[in-house]
Amino acid sequence: MADYQTVLYETPAPGVARVVQNRPDARNAQDLQMTYDLDAALTRAADDDDVKVVIVAGSGPHFSAGHDLRGDRGRKIEDFPLVTQWRGFGAPGAEGYLSRESEIYLHMYRRWRDLPKPTIAAVQGRCIAGGLAVAWVCDLIVASEDATFSDPVVDLGIPGVEYFAHPWEVGARKAKEMLFTGEAITARKAEALGMVNRVVPTESLAAETLALAERIASRPLFALKMSKQAVNQSLDAQGQWSAMQAAFSLHQLSHSHNVQVHRIPIDPSGIPGAVKQKPGKGSRP
Ligand code: ZN
Repeated sequence: MADYQTVLYETPAPGVARVVQNRPDARNAQDLQMTYDLDAALTRAADDDDVKVVIVAGSGPHFSAGHDLRGDRGRKIEDFPLVTQWRGFGAPGAEGYLSRESEIYLHMYRRWRDLPKPTIAAVQGRCIAGGLAVAWVCDLIVASEDATFSDPVVDLGIPGVEYFAHPWEVGARKAKEMLFTGEAITARKAEALGMVNRVVPTESLAAETLALAERIASRPLFALKMSKQAVNQSLDAQGQWSAMQAAFSLHQLSHSHNVQVHRIPIDPSGIPGAVKQKPGKGSRP
């Protein structure tokens, strides 16, 4: 039985697994440990033939504050079971940072997006930047009435979270507004934009999400897998993956620019509204 430090793995109903981000004191901020715990838990759900639908949730009042800017408590990426063949994380210049973010933020999220079973995000409270990416890689999103969604990282000198799905998730014009202003959109607005499937009372988020998961789990898994694949392939045929990789290149250009100007990969003036700590040396947005 796998043991996770930062996520919970639950089986709340037949055919349903629930993976819960479990760092509520840090607003479920995603550090390296949580990244690889999430990957291990999602892989466990994929491995288990009795699991047909996976819920991704967050404990506490907020789904996720995004990537943990406070660092990784001395852990190095090489300490974890890498999922890509990117290497050279300590290489100078742009190389090391690009390798790192390719592994943990671009290809990791893509891997979760392609998990061959239906996934549902259950989102409450704040869902910011890297948290937005965790919700977006899920097939469906159920939001509580108090949920808000934002990507304010332009304030950090970077053009949006690494998993750049914004134009597909909310449309090009709203994507620009989200990025330009950094303002959050409400659950109801996200539903109107087609980014969220259902908005439910906060107190019934878990029950409503589970009911939806159980309904899906009652249907044939192979056809569910194939319908997921068909939709994902249609997005790829529209150029989503190519555009996401292009945006990732601009993201890396921005990190390099910040290193040249500010000596760290992000603009240190930062955004206290989104993250409580200003980034220090070695911060990894
Ligand atoms: Zn980055």
